[in-house]
Amino acid sequence: MRYVIAVGANLGEAALVVGHALDTLAERLNGDLVARSSLYRTAPVGGPEQPDFINAVAIVDSNLEPPEILAHLQAMESESGRVRDVRWGPRTLDLDVIVAGDVVSDDPELTIPHPRAHERAFVLMPWLEIDPLAKLPGIGEIRTIVDAGFIDQDIAVVES
Ligand code: ADP
Ligand code: MG
Repeated sequence: MRYVIAVGANLGEAALVVGHALDTLAERLNGDLVARSSLYRTAPVGGPEQPDFINAVAIVDSNLEPPEILAHLQAMESESGRVRDVRWGPRTLDLDVIVAGDVVSDDPELTIPHPRAHERAFVLMPWLEIDPLAKLPGIGEIRTIVDAGFIDQDIAVVES
């Protein structure tokens, strides 16, 4: 099954943490990496003052079922305070399942497609970069959502 996974971090060395997650994701999910986006920097919307987010999207083919995928993602999240034995601080990594094949589920433990993906520039822009024909089951083409201009959020590719 083809999985679209959103990766985000905004504490500590966020770009390193996101890069490391992208480097190891396919192997951790027992699958093959189809594509990985650039890193994006996103200004936080509302909430308390906090650092910018670093976001990316990866597409992975894996034979694991969605609950197993979520378990592996959560294990990666809890390990994320540590990259090559160097501590970066508290939980710094968020890994969300955006799409799992054609699966539609309203299970609160694992809602698929991710219920807020279609309103988040930091999911849609990196996803479009690696899949211009991206679709959210039940919602539609990502290109159409972005072109409609509903999403108003500061986002930029991180210069490497
Ligand atoms: P958020 O990603 O909304 O900032 P968390 O990462 O703390 O918050 O996730 C909270 C819960 O969301 C997890 O316990 C998980 O079971 C649930 N969840 C529901 N749907 C999904 C999904 N599509 N991807 C990842 N987690 C999900
Ligand atoms: Mg999450």
